[in-house]
Amino acid sequence: MEMQQTVAKSAAATGIALHTGARATVRLQPAPVNTGIVFRRVDLPGKPEVRALASNVVDVQRGTTIAEGKGIVYTVEHIMSALHAFKIDNCIVEMDGMEPPIADGSSLAFVKMVKEAGCVVQDAPAVTFTPSAPVYADGGRTSVVLLPDPEKLTIQCVTDFKNCPVNTQFYQYELNSGTYEEEIAPGRTFVDYRDLRMLLSVGLCKGGSLDAAAIIHDGAIICKDRLRFENEIVRHKILDAIGDLYLTGCRVTGKLIAVCPGHPKNVELAGKLLAMRSNA
Ligand SMILES: [Zn+2]
Repeated sequence: MEMQQTVAKSAAATGIALHTGARATVRLQPAPVNTGIVFRRVDLPGKPEVRALASNVVDVQRGTTIAEGKGIVYTVEHIMSALHAFKIDNCIVEMDGMEPPIADGSSLAFVKMVKEAGCVVQDAPAVTFTPSAPVYADGGRTSVVLLPDPEKLTIQCVTDFKNCPVNTQFYQYELNSGTYEEEIAPGRTFVDYRDLRMLLSVGLCKGGSLDAAAIIHDGAIICKDRLRFENEIVRHKILDAIGDLYLTGCRVTGKLIAVCPGHPKNVELAGKLLAMRSNA
C-alpha cells in the first residue's frame, strides 16, 4: 500500500510573476496527513489559506486561479503539476503575493524546489481516485475524457492550433514512469502572438518575455535558445493537465484522452471527479 507523503523540509523558488511582473517567492512547507495541497498568502493579514480544489477555481482563462475566503492565488497549475508528479499529498505552499514566479514557463524550477525539499512518507494510506466509468468534459474543439484504470495515470494528448500552421502534435505519457523531470517538466508555456498582443494591451503579461514563454507567430515558434523538444507544445499541455487534474484533491489514476485540452475543460473534469469522490 502506498502511503501519503509530505515535503521533508522547507524549500523555495523566486522569480518574476508573469502577469504582474512583480518579484515573487513560493515556499513549500511540510503539512500533516490529510491536509492536501493548501496555498497560504503570507503577505495578507491573517494569512488566508486556499485549498487547491476544483471547487475553489474562480478563473481558467489565462491559467488556473483559485480563491477561498480572502485568499486568491493565480497560475497554480505548474506547481500543482510538480507536486502531483512527485506524489506530494500534503503541503503548505506559501506565497508572498497573488502569483508564483513563472520561471522559464515550464515546471523545472518547481521540480527543483520539490527535490530540494525532499519527501517523507507519512503514517496514513495515500488517497487515490479513479472513476468507475468514463468521465467527460468537452466543448468546442476540446475534449477530455478520463477512463477508469486503478493502476496508473496515462495521458494521451493531441494539440493543434486553429488558424495557425504549427503541426498537430501527439504525445503519450505515463505519470508513474519516473521520467516527469526529463519528459514533461521542461515543456514551456506557449502563447499565440495575437493573444499576447491582446494581453499586453490590457496590462497583463508584464513579466512576460522570451525567458518565460515561447511565442507562436505566423506559424513559426519564437523562443529562447531552441525548442527543447520537437513536440514541446503537447508536452506542456500534458504538464498543465497533470496539474489541473490534481485539483481533484488526491492522486488520480486512469487513462486521460485529451484533444486540444486547456484549463477550462481540465478543471471541469477535475470538478466532476471531486464531486464523485465527495459523493462516494
Ligand atoms: Zn501551463
